[in-house]
Amino acid sequence: MIQRPKGTYDVYGNMSKKILYIRKLMTSLMEKYNYEYFRTPLFEASELFHRGVGETSDIVTKETYDFKDRGDRNLTLRPEGTAGIVRSYIENKMYGNGNIVKCWYFGPMYRYERPQAGRYREFYQFGVEAMGSSDPALDAEVISIPVNFYKLLGLKDVKVKINSLGDLESRLKYKDALLAYFRPYLDDLCDDCKERFEKNPLRILDCKIDNHLDIMQKAPKITDYLNEESQKHFEAVIQYLKAMDIEYEIDPNIVRGLDYYTHTVFEVEANVEGFGKTCVLCGGGRYDNLVSNLGGPDTKAVGFALGLERLLTILDAEKIDIDDDNQLDVYMIPMDSKQKEYALKILNELRMNGFNVDMDYMGRSFKSNLKQLDRINPKFIIIIGEEEERNNLLTIKNNQTKTEEKISYNQIVDYLDDKMKDIED
Ligand code: ATP
Ligand code: MG
Repeated sequence: MIQRPKGTYDVYGNMSKKILYIRKLMTSLMEKYNYEYFRTPLFEASELFHRGVGETSDIVTKETYDFKDRGDRNLTLRPEGTAGIVRSYIENKMYGNGNIVKCWYFGPMYRYERPQAGRYREFYQFGVEAMGSSDPALDAEVISIPVNFYKLLGLKDVKVKINSLGDLESRLKYKDALLAYFRPYLDDLCDDCKERFEKNPLRILDCKIDNHLDIMQKAPKITDYLNEESQKHFEAVIQYLKAMDIEYEIDPNIVRGLDYYTHTVFEVEANVEGFGKTCVLCGGGRYDNLVSNLGGPDTKAVGFALGLERLLTILDAEKIDIDDDNQLDVYMIPMDSKQKEYALKILNELRMNGFNVDMDYMGRSFKSNLKQLDRINPKFIIIIGEEEERNNLLTIKNNQTKTEEKISYNQIVDYLDDKMKDIED
């Protein structure tokens, strides 16, 4: 038997209902925020991620799915959403007229990671990018999106951890301080961190192997190296978060795994009983140099991405049921296969008038169809026998009150419209 590839999963049954519900919530939330939906290809030129995400990030050094197509082009399955959107922003020249582009996406990302709880090789991210403004209020708006999204889903113990990486000048000063600090401890660090020391010492603070070490906790803090402008930006973001009543904690060890961040970086964590440890649900920040690094005009931007799978795990752990109420309106039961044509005519008419309708396609007898009703649980049942067909009638039964009536075919849409209103009231 052929099995699905390692680190992937199939969606069906209960899970598909949850995902559709979550997607609906995303869509309506993004409408409220006035962000537009954006979609870019699942694969891009490999160079985009090398230049965009950064040569020293784990994602690019260890986790990409790279391949050559039949035309000998070097392509990569996207490991994250930002680089593709920025590529599109530049390619489609969306930067004219002092525009701000605020967009959101939801789609699969690919990373060759060791599969484990909450970590897949194909996983879905919901994210936003807001490009064209350096306003710290925009950082706060972006941070408020995942926070409000989790709140609407019913998650309670959700916390924003925030830090600033400052601008380039502040970063360079900090980098020197880190080099001086870690140099005597090089032997204590893991092999990856030894390499990070050479290439991008900030990344050491993001190491999942060494992060328990004492020297990590005592490392110099970026917040002591921010220049005045960077400090001002960071303070403004914090003030705006306060204004929106968003709880936050300043955490100087948050540097994020990607190379392109400047100023604000943040993560949203959930503390979930029964889950064992805190779970990072979402990460993001400002990336003021990415658009110009990728060949576009100087454009400041900020965004975040959150993982669907970890969200589902947390919702389960918190026993939050988010099933959408999509109970079937009508289940059709023809008494005999001779009435199928008439049944399909009604079925089609009702569906085109906005009702959720289904019918038996298993050739079940009338009796065994009735036995299925508990499982199918429709609001109404329409029964069609020979007499109904001959006289353009149908028998409709309320599955809850068990009352039934015979009405004419022409009345059915109005009849159901009325009854549904009663049910909603
Ligand atoms: P981590 O530190 O957990 O590896 P990251 O820094 O690589 O996360 P980002 O690239 O910022 O994560 O992605 C944002 C979110 O996407 C994460 O917070 C997480 O919810 C989700 N995510 C990242 N990688 C995976 C994966 N392999 N499987 C499932 N979800 C993931
Ligand atoms: Mg990672």
